[in-house]
Amino acid sequence: MFLAIFLGLAVSALLLGRCAKDAPVREIAYSALRAEAAAGGLERVTITPTEIRATRRAERTRWSQPRDVRAERVDDPQLVPELRAAGVEVWGAHERDSAVTSLLSSLIIPLLMVAVVLWFVRGARRAGPMAAQAGRSGARLYAETATRATFADVAGVDEAKQELVEVIEYLRTPEKFARLGGTLPKGILLVGPPGTGKTLLARAVAGEAGVAFFSISGSEFVELFVGVGAARVRDLFAHARERAPCIVFIDELDAIGKARGASLNAHEEREQTLNQLLVELDGFDPRVGVVLMAATNRPEILDPALLRPGRFDRHVLVDRPDKAGRLAILQVHSRKTALAADADLDAIASMTAGMVGADLANIVNEAALLAVRRDKDAVGTAELQEAIARVIAGLEKRNRVLSPAEKERVAYHELGHALVALALPGQAELRKISIVPRGIAALGYTLQLPTEDRFLLTRRELEDKLAVLLAGRAAEELIYGDVSTGAQDDLQKATNIARSMVRAYAMGEGLGPLSFERDRAATMLDAVGGPGRGEYGDDVARAIDAEMKRICLAQHARALALLTDRRALLERAAVALLASETLTGDELRALCDAPPVAPVAPVAPVAPVARSA
Ligand code: ADP
Ligand code: MG
Ligand code: ZN
Repeated sequence: MFLAIFLGLAVSALLLGRCAKDAPVREIAYSALRAEAAAGGLERVTITPTEIRATRRAERTRWSQPRDVRAERVDDPQLVPELRAAGVEVWGAHERDSAVTSLLSSLIIPLLMVAVVLWFVRGARRAGPMAAQAGRSGARLYAETATRATFADVAGVDEAKQELVEVIEYLRTPEKFARLGGTLPKGILLVGPPGTGKTLLARAVAGEAGVAFFSISGSEFVELFVGVGAARVRDLFAHARERAPCIVFIDELDAIGKARGASLNAHEEREQTLNQLLVELDGFDPRVGVVLMAATNRPEILDPALLRPGRFDRHVLVDRPDKAGRLAILQVHSRKTALAADADLDAIASMTAGMVGADLANIVNEAALLAVRRDKDAVGTAELQEAIARVIAGLEKRNRVLSPAEKERVAYHELGHALVALALPGQAELRKISIVPRGIAALGYTLQLPTEDRFLLTRRELEDKLAVLLAGRAAEELIYGDVSTGAQDDLQKATNIARSMVRAYAMGEGLGPLSFERDRAATMLDAVGGPGRGEYGDDVARAIDAEMKRICLAQHARALALLTDRRALLERAAVALLASETLTGDELRALCDAPPVAPVAPVAPVAPVARSA
């Protein structure tokens, strides 16, 4: 590796040397050069046997002027003292054997650079104080004006934008929030599939608020030496505190934030970085005006400690765009593209179900390139179609496209979950239903986020949860008289809930107030010995299985009954959902309100359990 670094440096030193020689150099008169030196306009002067080269001070140079100038050498004993007096760096004043000096100096500088870097690397290796030095340059600071993105650049993710408006307000006038005693969530986690615009959205928040934007990407930490990642995190937060109000953005949080101890070969560096991040999150006063944001497309592998209240506790879903969203994104990206009269973006939006913002940007770009290649002066339908074909070819392997029949089944399945959730009181608010291929309906997604057990759940609430989970499959049975593989994930979750109800919380019947779950410490101790043998007898094991089955069957029947009662609504909603690919919770509630349906009593009699914690 050292050899590689050495070679890389040697090559770059050579290239740098070349560039310096090729940079524009203006010939000026010797007297002009002396005048500029006297006026304090020069930074550095190199005297060679034939010429005098000077570099102007950056701040004194208009950008249209070259910084390097050259003058004919004149044997002037006054020159060097005068330059020194004017504070100019003078090189090569003791010339004569100039060939040797210039050779030496051109060798010495790269060698010095190599030495310094090697020293750095070794320091970082030992994770000594040098690690902190290497961490210094970690955070990228986007200048507030240069690459400013705004909300106008992000389309098709209106709900996410809405949730972030409050953050922008806060960054604009932190004093106002402080005065009103309002607190903002400390950390905001953008969750969604790759290419949906999470990074762009974070930058746009900074752009809209007009504040500085510090960003690091989790993937940059993966290959670092031990200690450097933690130092970078510390440094990032220190910088941010100085620049408040500002945004600190950690992209690809999962690369640092994987659950600790999850993998066999514990990754010491990542754990140190993660621990440092947790320390910074905790020691952070949100009133200083720094907003923390992070993005991930794999929320389920994050260390639960990161998602605890007071850390990244606000989750904003950045989902795949529906048809209207795709059209808006296409419009954003074709703002600067000349479109022919026959280019129908609406048709393109219909053809690209399942694609994300990055794919759509890619299509517009490909189409523009095709038009250029064909010498056209506008992008037409032909180019757009071909661009879609190309992008799809690239996607096919990772992104299956649903057939219309599958889409319809998914619509009924999702509406099954949604209608049962609406019919049962106390369910988490229904935000959105989506049948965008591979899209994640808000309902399913919220449940997937690893949330800490923050509330007491009653038996009734767990039963309601089960009914909602089993309702997708129930809807398929009701409409098609047949089930599909689409419910696998639901079934798994339902089984887990039922198992906990019976084994851990003694909510089954006929088993008594006993827990059949071993406590954590015991499980850890004999993890090698296999799952709890000899804890209870075979008859108890059979009773547990039977009880789990009874609970799930009862809730499945309850979901089926609720849906049978709402069959007309289910079919009406499916038409609407198939047309637009997404329905918001409000749209669905509006559909429900048309004919009133009487609430249905639970099928299984439930013991009276206190509802509040
Ligand atoms: P993510 O971080 O979610 O993977 P990015 O923000 O990196 O996605 O998106 C990559 C590019 O795709 C963006 O720079 C932008 O050009 C385009 N893009 C993605 N989503 C959108 C969107 N919602 N609106 C407009 N452009 C988008
Ligand atoms: Mg990104
Ligand atoms: Zn489901």
